[in-house]
Amino acid sequence: RMMSATPASPKEEAIERALRPKLFDEYVGQAKAREQLQIFIGAARKRSEALDHVLLFGPPGLGKTTLSHIIAHELGVNLRQTSGPVLEKPKDLAALLTNLEKNDVLFIDEIHRLSPVVEEILYPALEDYQIDIMIGEGPAARSIKLDLQPFTLVGATTRAGMLTNPLRDRFGIVARLEFYTPDELARIVKRSASLLQAPMDEEGGFEIARRSRGTPRIANRLLRRVRDYADVKGTGKITLDIANLALAMLDVDPQGFDVMDRKLLEAVIHRFDGGPVGLDNIAASIGEERDTIEDVIEPYLIQQGFLQRTPRGRIATLAAYRHLGVTPPQAASG
Ligand code: ADP
Repeated sequence: RMMSATPASPKEEAIERALRPKLFDEYVGQAKAREQLQIFIGAARKRSEALDHVLLFGPPGLGKTTLSHIIAHELGVNLRQTSGPVLEKPKDLAALLTNLEKNDVLFIDEIHRLSPVVEEILYPALEDYQIDIMIGEGPAARSIKLDLQPFTLVGATTRAGMLTNPLRDRFGIVARLEFYTPDELARIVKRSASLLQAPMDEEGGFEIARRSRGTPRIANRLLRRVRDYADVKGTGKITLDIANLALAMLDVDPQGFDVMDRKLLEAVIHRFDGGPVGLDNIAASIGEERDTIEDVIEPYLIQQGFLQRTPRGRIATLAAYRHLGVTPPQAASG
């Protein structure tokens, strides 16, 4: 997906890093998560203690990685970054843990994808700052306990429900990141445009913000594509007209939905009579992974009121029928 919410290439990642806020002052929105984190960070600093372990959850691109960097920055400690699938063996995690300095932050992205054996050694680390490691092989093998420096684990996941209970229970601070409002995204787009030195007026910036699926990563990506369009087809300045033309070319519709969003709504309406239809049937019908639908595509459609999640499956709402210009049946919900 061109406009997908996950970083696409090393180049994209480099630009993303450049646009990443480093302090709370530059971090837009997420008032609730920010407030509680600021208080707990202040308290931890005052006592020179490690911050409690933090779990951040929410769809990709909403600022979980950014927040973990800010947490380390505001605590005045180092950040070590890894991800669930990268930590294949217990010794991979042990190596990271034993290298942490006092009160450091360890960020594990996609923490729901830790293997059970790796997760096992994380428990005592989180609770007592200790790990058990095996020394030697065969009959001579023995387990020794190693003391760690106090540290903070920041775990990120798309859905809190994907974590095992014992792991979830070990986080003292749990923050759910929400989709951003158009006004919040407009502030992000404005800041990014000035960092990229891209000339842009208010209306042009707001149009990009409004059509970014509530997601800063998408807003920053659309901004760069619209800017390219402005450079080639216009005078270089991002205006409302330029934004409208560029977004149409990028297949981002007036609601901000992309090709996959529309494909999903069309499938539910045309192939499954508006639902209820199970996730697996939708996945097969549109040729997309079940997890991608659940983590990336449907949360925004649900939040915007175009799709409903019920125990019997997904249902297209009246808004979805209207959006696609389809006459709804009498019984359609909405
Ligand atoms: P996640 O880890 O949740 O997938 P990231 O933290 O990588 O998301 O954020 C993606 C991009 O969006 C980053 O480049 C960052 O600059 C931008 N971003 C995310 N949240 C904010 C925010 N609250 N304010 C400003 N920019 C943000």
